[in-house]
Amino acid sequence: MLITGGSRGIGASCAEHAAKAGYDVCFSYASNPGAADLVKAACEQHGARAASTRADVSSEDDVIALFDFCESELGAPDVFVNNAGVLGQQGELRDFTAERIAWTVNVNVTGALLCMREAARRMSTDRGGAGGSIINVSSKASTLGSPFEYVDYAASKGAIDSATIGLSKELGAVGVRVNCVRPGPIHTDIHASGGEPDRIARVSAGIPMGRGGEPAEVASLILWLAGDEASYVSGALIDVAGGR
Ligand code: NAP
Repeated sequence: MLITGGSRGIGASCAEHAAKAGYDVCFSYASNPGAADLVKAACEQHGARAASTRADVSSEDDVIALFDFCESELGAPDVFVNNAGVLGQQGELRDFTAERIAWTVNVNVTGALLCMREAARRMSTDRGGAGGSIINVSSKASTLGSPFEYVDYAASKGAIDSATIGLSKELGAVGVRVNCVRPGPIHTDIHASGGEPDRIARVSAGIPMGRGGEPAEVASLILWLAGDEASYVSGALIDVAGGR
């Protein structure tokens, strides 16, 4: 299994769940090798082979190098988890700079599309691949719009939903399933990036289940989508959002 952004949060939980389930795990990080080392060690404790490398998903060269690294260290991935994503400071769209919007779109849209492209090229059975499963990490924000917080982020996740639907249709006949998970508020560092580390406490009242989710609750859905139990599931957008 190859995961982008596996050093922290949902990606880290996914790496550890995958290792526990018997996958060898390769993952990328952006700037935090110390966190990546801890996740790698945790995967190895489950008996998995694990490898990590720095790769910025918004760089085409880095994305190609990441997939090459995975192939050379562990072999071609059977499962690709398109997880890396960023969030800017909370605010209103009318106050956002062009630079901030471009950063969000470069990482969350261009980066995710480059990663999908690379996985699709290498997994497709009509291009010499062995087939596989791609799981995109979108957000429930794509349906809610994140007003007064980060409309640019919500829109970037809407693009992931659309790409999931389109790519699943392109790859259905060549052995690759493409699905998407849409988490609600999950306890990770990403809310601090938005400027409100305790955001989940504020929004919990609006979540039918009355609480935020844990990274493991997203990882278990990703693992299910990755495996044979989901063999006829493709093009699905599945919410893991406490009923939100
Ligand atoms: P997080 O805790 O902030 O972790 C982000 C991960 O992505 C880290 O491993 C980080 O690496 C990596 N990363 C950041 N920018 C990158 C880049 N340009 N290239 C490659 N890797 C990069 O985030 P999270 O909450 O786990 O979020 C993971 C995914 O879930 C994101 O796509 C996010 O939009 C989505 N999501 C999260 C929530 C939530 O409430 N947490 C809800 C819905 C959707 P470093 O450690 O090196 O910085």
